Parts: sequence; structure tokens; C-alpha cells
Amino acid sequence: MINIVIFGPPGAGKGTQSERLKDKFGLVHISTGDVFRGLDPTSELAKLAKSYSEKGNLVPDEITISILESEVAKHPNARGVIYDGFPRTTTQAEALDSFLSKKNSAITMALALEVEEDELRVRLKNRALDSGRPDDADPSIIQNRIDVYNAQTAPVAAFYKAQGKYVGVNGIGNKEDIYNRLVEAIEKKA
Ligand code: AMP
Repeated sequence: MINIVIFGPPGAGKGTQSERLKDKFGLVHISTGDVFRGLDPTSELAKLAKSYSEKGNLVPDEITISILESEVAKHPNARGVIYDGFPRTTTQAEALDSFLSKKNSAITMALALEVEEDELRVRLKNRALDSGRPDDADPSIIQNRIDVYNAQTAPVAAFYKAQGKYVGVNGIGNKEDIYNRLVEAIEKKA
């Protein structure tokens, strides 16, 4: 199995690039953000998730990990998975490792899209024009998402570096060039 974590701050291009990479390598793309947004909005779970996401905060680990595991279970015959927006904490990264090891599987690599903060703010503001996402539209929520990334998610990089699985990719430039860099990085490692 090829299991790729696509890692990076909000606005780095994880979703866009994952969509292309999943087709190229025949993988399933799982975005926990998309899963949360796709929940029945009248359900208690959706309301709970929204109470965090609308402020740009992380949904608690316990909920997110169980959502992720049930999403993976929907694809028992997958050739592999692209994990987009998960793990976002070291606890989630550890949970993913133990979940996969029970299935005699493991993360192949963590591909990190590296983009600096000023560029992220510009991209998220532009994305708000057609994403319809309230968390993209408000500069204070954008800033909180970046701060949350720096405080809680950035340490996940060290987790994968320690395992020799972290591969940084320059996330600046046009989408095609970034895609080609990612493909090259995957082909080297997978
Ligand atoms: P995203 O679409 O990846 O930007 O995620 C949107 C929002 O969903 C985030 O700001 C969080 O509130 C929530 N979310 C998505 N993935 C996770 C995760 N792995 N852990 C906690 N919260 C998450």
C-alpha cells in the first residue's frame, strides 16, 4: 500500500494537489476537512465539529481520529490513501501509525508543501471568493488557523522527520510545477 500524508499549512494547496495525485497513483483521497463539511448539518456531530471549525480551531483528537478511521474503513480494497489535513496533531499521527500497523500497513511518506505565511493569507483570501467557506473569508479566523497550525500541527513534521519519512516540497509557483515536484518526490520514495 502507498499511504501518503500530504502535510502543510492551510492554503498550501493540499486539497488541489491531492485530487490530481490520487488519479495519477490510483489512491483514495481522504480529507478530514471535507468529511466534516460533508456531515449532515442537522447531526450533533456536524454541529460539534462546526463549533470548532468556524473559529479555525481543531476538532478534538478523539472525534477526528474516529471519523478518520471510519472513513478509511469505507475503502477496504484501496491501493493506498492520501491523507489530507490529517494528522494535525502528534496524537493523531501516533493514532494513525497504530491504526495502520494493526492492518500490517504504514505511512510511506509525509509530503510537506512548504509555503510562507504571507502567501497563505493571500491564497486563503482569494479562495474565499469561490470556496464559500466562512473560515476562508474572515482575516482573524485565517490568522487563527495559521497560529493553530504553527502551535499544534507544525510539530507533526518532527514526528515524521524522526521516522525518516518527511519530504519537503517547495509549494510556491504554478500548480503544474508544484504537482510535478510532488510526483517526482513520490516516485522516488514509493
Ligand atoms: P481543512 O479543510 O483541512 O482546512 O479543515 C477545515 C477545518 O476542519 C479545520 O480548521 C478544523 O476545524 C477541522 N479539521 C479538519 N481536519 C482536522 C484534523 N485532522 N484535526 C482537527 N480538526 C480538523
